[in-house]
Amino acid sequence: MDFKLTEEHEMIRQAARDFANNELKPGVIERDEKQEFPKEQIKKLGELGFMGMMASPEYGGGGMDTVSYVLAMEELSKIDASASVVVSVNNSLVCWGLDTYGTEEQKKKYLTQLTTGEKIGAFCLSEPEAGSDATSQKTTAIDKGDHYVINGTKNWITNGGSADIYLVIAHTDKEKKHRGINAFILEKGMEGFEIGPKEQKMGIRGSDTHSLTFNDVKVPKENRIGEDGFGFKFAMKTLAGGRIGIAAQALGIAAGAYEMAKAYSKIRKAFGTEIMNHQAIAFKLADMHTSIEAARHMVMKAAWDKDNGENYDLSGAMAKLYASQVAMDVTVEAVQVHGGNGYVKEYHVERLMRDAKITQIYEGTSEIQKIVISRSILAD
Ligand SMILES: Cc1cc2nc3c(=O)[nH]c(=O)nc-3n(C[C@H](O)[C@H](O)[C@H](O)COP(=O)(O)OP(=O)(O)OC[C@H]3O[C@@H](n4cnc5c(N)ncnc54)[C@H](O)[C@@H]3O)c2cc1C
Repeated sequence: MDFKLTEEHEMIRQAARDFANNELKPGVIERDEKQEFPKEQIKKLGELGFMGMMASPEYGGGGMDTVSYVLAMEELSKIDASASVVVSVNNSLVCWGLDTYGTEEQKKKYLTQLTTGEKIGAFCLSEPEAGSDATSQKTTAIDKGDHYVINGTKNWITNGGSADIYLVIAHTDKEKKHRGINAFILEKGMEGFEIGPKEQKMGIRGSDTHSLTFNDVKVPKENRIGEDGFGFKFAMKTLAGGRIGIAAQALGIAAGAYEMAKAYSKIRKAFGTEIMNHQAIAFKLADMHTSIEAARHMVMKAAWDKDNGENYDLSGAMAKLYASQVAMDVTVEAVQVHGGNGYVKEYHVERLMRDAKITQIYEGTSEIQKIVISRSILAD
């Protein structure tokens, strides 16, 4: 067993850390306040190769492993979880999905633009009545020979307004239940494709979340991903990998809050000494550090499983369940360590506390992760 990162991994981590500090940190408070999408920063992340890290180099991707991706996700999320969710959706849901299951034409046409950050992707599964229960899709795609006609509504779509390319899950045959679900590539601007207003959110406020409506949207047949009926499997496989990215996001949020709390404890004085010298504070930091380290091991193990052809459904679900709880616990404690300053925007930790909550909800809630985990451990 080797816990040491390679030189290349260290370089990727450092590059992500530098980017987060130099490019994301300035303006992160204002973007959060104004719910402003980090457009320029995402463009730069694309230029630096962070938008298609794991995708094949022949389509503009970085050809990197999942370990590299989670290292980058952790560093970006320490500073700006709104930017990191854009990176996560684009990398592990959209690019990975297309790279793994798309046709040569789909990869040439769409993936090449997504890996470079020239265009941004969105993954559209959730609906007003189909969140955790993703099989209850109401969006329909009717086969009209050389094209499909799509009707329905998607909810909570990350990059909903900023994306150009949308992977949309829809029912083509309700009788066949989940085997009658397909995934399609849609483009912004297709006739009948409407983007709803931006959601006003508690956290990750810089990311842009919208509902989408499809009114008789004509989608060419060649835009279906995989064989007929592959859509549900496509969504589940893609989300299994996506969860590793969100687990890394949760880890980064926790680690970012911890680093700030530790630094603050060394400068803030109370009762004539730095607060780190009060055991109550030192023990908080000890607990934070321990749980973060445990979460990091779980995230890395899930990434390693994926890179080594092992089943990562269980390790990915456990990593997300655990890391998201750590993100909640650590950010709450980081606010506490900061006292009154923890409650105001300029010290960053209140934002991280608000951002942490989403990691327990999207890409499968914590309850859904427990369903995945319990089914897996009880299967043998
Ligand atoms: C900011 C944000 C961004 C998002 N981005 C995307 C995106 O890009 N693409 C996309 O497709 N979706 C996205 N989502 C949707 C997200 O994945 C769903 O909100 C999530 O899966 C939960 O679905 P729901 O909101 O319908 O909750 P529900 O399914 O209604 O769940 C409500 C509660 O019931 C619990 N519950 C439900 N079923 C069970 C069960 N069987 N056993 C135990 N408990 C259960 C849940 O855990 C939850 O606590 C996003 C959501 C948000 C808030």
